[in-house]
Formats: sequence, structure tokens, C-alpha cells
Amino acid sequence: MTYPFNVDEIEAALDSLALSHPAVTELITLPHATWEGRASHALRIGSPSASSRDTDTVIVLGGVHAREWVPPDALVNLAADLLEAHSRGTGLRYGSQYFTAQQIRSVVEEVQLVLFPCVNPDGRHHSQTVEQDTNWRKNRRPAPHGSACVGVDINRNFDALWDFRRHFADDSKVSASDDPCDPEVYVGPAAASEPETRNVVWLLDRYPHTRWFLDLHSAVPGIFFTWGFDVNQTTDPTMNFHNPVFDGQRGVKGDRYREFIPPEDFHSLQRVGTRINDAVAAASGTGYALQQSYSLYPTSGCSDDFAYSRHFARPDQGKILSFTIECGKLQQPETLEEAEGVIREVCAGLIALCVAAQEERSERARDDVAAARKPDAMVTS
Ligand SMILES: [Zn+2]
Repeated sequence: MTYPFNVDEIEAALDSLALSHPAVTELITLPHATWEGRASHALRIGSPSASSRDTDTVIVLGGVHAREWVPPDALVNLAADLLEAHSRGTGLRYGSQYFTAQQIRSVVEEVQLVLFPCVNPDGRHHSQTVEQDTNWRKNRRPAPHGSACVGVDINRNFDALWDFRRHFADDSKVSASDDPCDPEVYVGPAAASEPETRNVVWLLDRYPHTRWFLDLHSAVPGIFFTWGFDVNQTTDPTMNFHNPVFDGQRGVKGDRYREFIPPEDFHSLQRVGTRINDAVAAASGTGYALQQSYSLYPTSGCSDDFAYSRHFARPDQGKILSFTIECGKLQQPETLEEAEGVIREVCAGLIALCVAAQEERSERARDDVAAARKPDAMVTS
């Protein structure tokens, strides 16, 4: 194994996995070329019978932030491990975390896993080739006229309370900036202004039965569930991100405004987040802390909040339960051994997510059958 992959190696690896496992993969070309003209690809893993787009889908992103070198490598390794185990009919082991052959078969054949390992290839290339910019985070959007400042933070560019000055309180300390020269969290000139952001939106639109979404970053480490806007609450549905009455109030800890999350979603995120964390812990001996995204700092325009927010904003959209994982302890582990350790724990955690997704889908199908069999209580003579 080598680490870190450069952007060409990531593309070549996806190509070769799709070529060697044609029955259970599809190489997806994203529609929007990056600012530097790169074409991006995602890999769908799922059997032909699962390829109809109404199968529960898990979408996982990596490489949104340029300097976080492990996530793209982890997602390529995850794809390779899953496909190899499936074709051999074996299980998979990471440390003391073991997935049975039956679990691997169910993941590959009964859910769709869409991996988009390198969302921001221009940024990664810059971080890996320009010595003074290894710490580069944003994409490579050209500097606006009269400025020398390049790039937008893709993970502040999604259409989820993107206009932070309107939606958040002045004293919220929301992690966002409208200054193009901010090296970290410049939100861009408009929501979804960036081709990298629009590629992710396109994937979510292409798979309307996406049920789970995870954006893999590094490092903290931690497993974060929505929301990132404010502290969650489960009792007042009117106190929510799309209610303009609360504009200018969000993001402050300890005040009246808190973000509504339906209790059943909160419990699903807790339950599945715990499964992910248990697998991480079994793989490496140490788990990541499971916590709400807001506990790091309030955020606007993030991918996980955007994915989860869609069905609130538009009821015709399916519900997508969302996580962000911050893996490992360093953005650029110094040794191959350390990177491999993080990759193993990430693979274990993500396969646990897929197993949980498959089980949840089976439970829902059983509930639907049971509901259909119930005698009709409304029969009248
Ligand atoms: Zn990040």
C-alpha cells in the first residue's frame, strides 16, 4: 500500500476497480469539471438488481478539504476491500472487528454504496505539489477581480443557511467568512457556486432514495451527527432553520434558539452512530467520540446539514440521515503505518454504517408488509 494517493492515482484506482468488478460497480462521471478542468468520478457499488434507483443508497464523500490526505485513500481502500471480499465470498476483518461473508454480500447486493473519494481534486493536487501550501483547504476558484485570493471552502458552500449573516446571530461565532481572502472558511460568492459543490448536489439528486450520507474529513477524531446550526431540540418543530422568524438568532449557545430534530431521527443517528463508533473501536482499540456537529462550533453551508435539510425544505425529497466523521489525529499522518491504522478504522466504521443501513431497510420492509396485512379497521357495511 502507498499513501497518500495523488489525484491521478485515485482516478486510476476507481477505473481499475470498476473494470475488474463490472457486475457490481458503476463508474459515475460527475457533470461539472473543476476550475482547473479536472473530471471527477464516483464509484457505485451494488448488484445489478440493486441498481434500480429506488434501492436505499449510502453516499460517502472524501477529499472535500484539500489538506486532509487520508479520507480519499480510505474510501479507495474501502471499495477495494469490499469488492474483493464479495468476489471471493469471504468476510472482512479489521483488528477485532469482523464482518461475515453474509454481511458483505448483503451490503453489496442489498444497498447501494456511492463513494465519491475526491470531491476537491484541484485543492488536493495543490496541497500535495506546492510546498508552501501543504496546509491548503479550499478549492482553486480563481481570485476575484482585483484580489489575489484563491479558493472557496466547499464545506461552507452548500445551500444550508449559506447566507450566514442573515441567518445567524452576530455574536454566534459561526465558522464562516464572506472574505475571499479568508484561507479557511470563505463561503463563496453564492450558495452552490462551486463545481465541486454542484457535483455533490447532482449525486444526491441522482439517487433520490439516498437514506444515509457521510462526509469523511480529518482530523479530531470524532463522529458528528446533524445539526451544525445550533444545539438540537426535539420538542418545538416551529423552531427550525427554514423559519425566517428566527433569522439573526441562530448559533448562540445557551440562548432560546435551538434547532429542531424529530426525536425518531435523533434516535436513528444515535443508534447508527454508535454502531459506527463500536466498529472503529473494535478495529483500533479506541473509539471516536459521538457528538452533535454543533459541539465543535456552529457552521453554515456544510454538506451534512444540506443533505439532511433537503426533505424539510422540500417534502418531495426523501429523508437523508447525515454524519461527518473527522478521522484520525493528524490531517497528514507522517508514517504509512499511522495512515494505515486510520484507514482500517474508517473502513470498519463505514462498513458498519452499510450493515446498519441494510438492516434498517429490511426492518422497514417487514413493517410495511405487517402494515399491509392488518385488517382494515375502517371497513363499513
Ligand atoms: Zn475537513
